[in-house]
Formats: sequence, C-alpha cells, structure tokens
Amino acid sequence: MSVIAQLRTGPDDVSGMAFVCLRCGTCCRKYQPQINFTEARLIVDKLGISWEEWLSSYADSRWPGEDSFLIRQKDGACIFLEQISAVLTRCAIYNVRPAACLEWQPDLFRSECRQGLLRYWHLEVDSSGRLTGPSEDLTAFEMFLKSLDSTF
Ligand code: SF4
Ligand code: SF4
Repeated sequence: MSVIAQLRTGPDDVSGMAFVCLRCGTCCRKYQPQINFTEARLIVDKLGISWEEWLSSYADSRWPGEDSFLIRQKDGACIFLEQISAVLTRCAIYNVRPAACLEWQPDLFRSECRQGLLRYWHLEVDSSGRLTGPSEDLTAFEMFLKSLDSTF
C-alpha cells in the first residue's frame, strides 16, 4: 500500500513512519536558529559577503552572544527562506544550513508540519494518523508527493 493510501485509510502504527519534508517553511517562519561562529563563517563564505555585512544584515542584532548568533528574520521568516512557488519554499543556504536546521526532522505529529499541511493542502491528520480533507485536496497532495524527489 502506498503511503498516501496509508495516510488516507489510517495506518495501524504511524509512530515509526518517516514523513517527508513538505518544504512548507512553517518551521523556518517559527524559529530563529542559533548558530556558532564556525557555522556563521560557512554562511559568510557561501554568500561571499564580508563579516561586517553578516553582522549588519543577517545576524539578529538583539542577540547578546559574541560567539554565537541568531539568524535574522525578515517579513516573519528566516531571512534565508525563499518562497519559490505557491506551495514550496527553499533554503537559500541549504548546503551550509546550520546544525539546528539539519537536526530538525519533519514529523507527522509536529504541529509545524501539520500547519503546513493545513495551510497549503487544507488537510489534517486525525488521532489515528489518518489524513483527512476534501477529496480533490487529497488528490492534489498525492500528485505533489509524487513530484517531490523523496519518498515517505
Ligand atoms: S537557515 Fe534555511 S533551513 Fe534554517 S531556518 Fe533558515 S531557511 Fe530554514
Ligand atoms: S514544518 Fe515540517 S514539512 Fe514544513 S518545512 Fe518544516 S519540517 Fe518541512
């Protein structure tokens, strides 16, 4: 049974089921990653900017640390989050994203991932792990999943 079929009918046990990132960007809107000096230097090198530009334009000036930084938010999201289509975002520094972002795993039971499902796909997950919503949205979501270069 495909995973979307499992989600439609409600799998017996969804606790161990891997959930692909929908790239909705909800987590990148909600949190500001704290990063260390080495991570900041990697981003600076990737962007080809000066350290002064990093401090003035990308690091949150309200953060009191000198050896660590908070990535700045802009328009309610991480400054590196890009909206690339009506339903997809991308990280502009994906290859050098910090550990805080690397360690964050998408999960069917995370409120942020569920918010993304609802925001872009009008779908919800019930207490048994069943994906619920209008049939046309389930179909559109299924097509979207197939278009992603990942699998559940
Ligand atoms: S650095 Fe990239 S992955 Fe991390 S919060 Fe910002 S946009 Fe999201
Ligand atoms: S909230 Fe979940 S699905 Fe959306 S981008 Fe973050 S990890 Fe991916």
